[in-house]
Amino acid sequence: MRSMPQATLLVVDDEPANIEALAAVLDPHYELRFAMSGLEALTAMHDGPLPDLVLLDVMLPDIDGFEVCTRIRADARTAGVPVIFITALGQPAQEELGFGVGAVDYIAKPFTAASVRARVRNHLELKRNRELLQRLAITDALTGLANRRHFDEALRLEVQRHRRQGLSLGLALIDIDHFKRYNDHYGHPKGDECLNLVSAALAGSLRRASDLIARVGGEEFAILMPETDLEGALSVAERGRAAVSELAIPHAMSTTQPFITVSIGLHAGIDIDDAQRYRAADQQLYRAKAAGRDQIMWDGKGNAAGGGK
Ligand code: GH3
Ligand code: MG
Ligand code: MG
Repeated sequence: MRSMPQATLLVVDDEPANIEALAAVLDPHYELRFAMSGLEALTAMHDGPLPDLVLLDVMLPDIDGFEVCTRIRADARTAGVPVIFITALGQPAQEELGFGVGAVDYIAKPFTAASVRARVRNHLELKRNRELLQRLAITDALTGLANRRHFDEALRLEVQRHRRQGLSLGLALIDIDHFKRYNDHYGHPKGDECLNLVSAALAGSLRRASDLIARVGGEEFAILMPETDLEGALSVAERGRAAVSELAIPHAMSTTQPFITVSIGLHAGIDIDDAQRYRAADQQLYRAKAAGRDQIMWDGKGNAAGGGK
C-alpha cells in the first residue's frame, strides 16, 4: 500500500453522542477535527489548514448546516472541500435542499459504519483525482515548472490587473543558446537532463513568491514578475543568466561559450496588452541572439527606445 498523509475530516455535530459515534467509525483511518456549531465549523474552515472533507449535521444551534454548506461553497478558499450531510432529516425535500446547496452526498441517520466509511473514502478519492488532474493540466511534465497554458493565463490576468492599478509588470523570455547542437552532440536524454538543470537554476534565482517561471517551449522559459519595473526585472534576469552559466554544463559545440548559456529578452512597463508584451520581449530575445547570445536585451539597451524590430 502506498503511504499517504492521513486525510483530515471536519465533523460538525452538536450532539456529543453523534460525534462519538462518528469518531468510532472513522477514527483509525482519518485525522478528525470537530465543531459543535455552524459558526464554529466556519471558523475551523478558516483557521489553520483546510480539512479534506466536511461531515455536516443539518440541525445546529446557531446557523443550520444548509447555510454552513452554502457559505463554504461561496468562498473561493473553501469551495473545493467536499461536504457530506449526515442528518436525521431524511425527507426527500431536505435531501434535495442538501444537494441544492452543493453537498456531494447526503447520509440519513441512523447510518451504518460501512456506508459512512465507503462514502467518505470515495469522495476523498474523487477529490484527490480532481486535484491531481488540475495540477497536471498546468504543469510541464519534464521540468515540473508551470506550462505554457498556465503561463498564458497568468500573463493575461496580471496584465489586466497591472493596467487597472497602473503598475509595472516585468516579463523575461529565456532561450538556451545553441541547444540544437547540444542535442545533436550529446543526445536527447542529455538534452532533457540539461533542461532540468537549467530550469532548476532559473527557478532558484527567483526571490519573490509572486514571480512565476514557466517552460513555454522546447528550450524556452519565461518569468513573469508582478509589480516589477525594468531595473528590478533586469536584476532577476541577470541572476538567472548567471545561475545558468555557473552550472558550467559543458557544451563543446557552442560557439558562444564552452558551456551552456542563455539569452534573455526583457520587457517591463505598464500599459500594453499581453500579446504585445510577449512580442516585445520576444523581439528583445531576438536582439540578444543577434548580438552574440549569453546576454540580456531590453528596449533601450544599445538602441534608441523602440528601435528593435
Ligand atoms: P539558438 O542559440 O539560436 O537559440 O539556437 P538553438 O539551437 O538553441 O535553437 P533552435 O530553436 O534552432 O533549436 C532548439 C532545439 O531545442 C531543437 C531541439 O533539438 C531542442 N529541444 C526542444 N525541445 C526539447 C526537449 O524537450 N528535449 C530536448 N532534449 N531537446 C529539445
Ligand atoms: Mg528556441
Ligand atoms: Mg535556443
